[in-house]
Amino acid sequence: MINPSWRRVVLKVGSALIAPDNQGCSEQYLRPIAEFIRQCRLQGLEVILVSSGSVAAGRHHFNFQHQRVPIALKRAMAAVGQSELMNFWSNCFDFPCAQVLLTHGDLSDRVRHVNIQNTLRRLLDHNVLPIVNENDTIATDEIKVGDNDNLAAMVATVANADALIICSDVAGLYTADPNKDPNATLIPAVQRISPEIYALAGGAASKVGTGGMRTKIEAAEKAAAHGIDTVIIDGHQEYSFQCILAGNNPGTIFHGHAKPLPAKKHWVRHTLRAKGEIWVDEGCIEALCRHGASLLCSGIVNISGEFDSGDAVLVRCADGKRKIAKGVSRFSASELFSIKGQQSRDIAACLGYCPTGSDAVIHRSEMMLLERI
Ligand code: GLU
Repeated sequence: MINPSWRRVVLKVGSALIAPDNQGCSEQYLRPIAEFIRQCRLQGLEVILVSSGSVAAGRHHFNFQHQRVPIALKRAMAAVGQSELMNFWSNCFDFPCAQVLLTHGDLSDRVRHVNIQNTLRRLLDHNVLPIVNENDTIATDEIKVGDNDNLAAMVATVANADALIICSDVAGLYTADPNKDPNATLIPAVQRISPEIYALAGGAASKVGTGGMRTKIEAAEKAAAHGIDTVIIDGHQEYSFQCILAGNNPGTIFHGHAKPLPAKKHWVRHTLRAKGEIWVDEGCIEALCRHGASLLCSGIVNISGEFDSGDAVLVRCADGKRKIAKGVSRFSASELFSIKGQQSRDIAACLGYCPTGSDAVIHRSEMMLLERI
């Protein structure tokens, strides 16, 4: 029996499993993965599939031999490959599949975020298998997630999944690079993701996909903060899937935190991207970190970047070296230039208006501390 505390799982399958030779979708690894999905559903689990491979699957239709593909051509390859991918997956199952194409811009917009959540809910309620990928045909650097490990973690969060299973080309996280060090051993479980864990991830990346072990650890960190377990397994081995179905761990499990972050704080910390920075004095850092205060304009010494009210920003100490917090600013960068260092009661006099009706520049409910003092 699969882990009984899991009701809903997100399964991430990378390009190297979908199109291992860049020659379109290959049955080799996908048939066992499709069987795994079928078995999970038979055990009563809700499954969401995050499938990479649009570029890899579409590539063989274009007469282009170089390893580095120009972005416009990549988008075209993705457009062809995505429909082949969906066609392939749909033919594996006797239940309907739904294509869900997302960008980071969709996940960081509150209304679209809720729409994604509702749509996934409806699909699962009707026994449809959602198949998610990044919308590579239109994605630009500003709006894309960039790798499907992090995308899968964001999907697991938005869908309130219990587990994220990432199919890799190695069995899990090792104490050293298993391709170089014969003494490397598999780490079966990680309770907390620390800088040491990131150091173990190194930079290993596959030739076909975008991610490496680092993006998998990032994904596990995002998922854990939402209380979601992440398991990294070797997706080439049927044995990995048999183990999971029997409730065993064939790879590395990163346990979800027992006390997950509230959804809004998780979204601020792990989904929103900082558009600028607010630098604050020591008194302000003390108030934020020791007393759980909101950020007020009196403690601000400098502002960098162009941001609007409602954008996420990083809060740094006065010399810019330490990251103190991340949160949603209720004032734009240009408004903050006018009111930095002022008392809250002087905001209206400085600006000629008081834009929010509140004196908090970042309210504590929309702020995540990155440092404890
Ligand atoms: N979205 C990309 C694709 O379908 C893959 C990104 C990744 O490899 O992580 O080709």
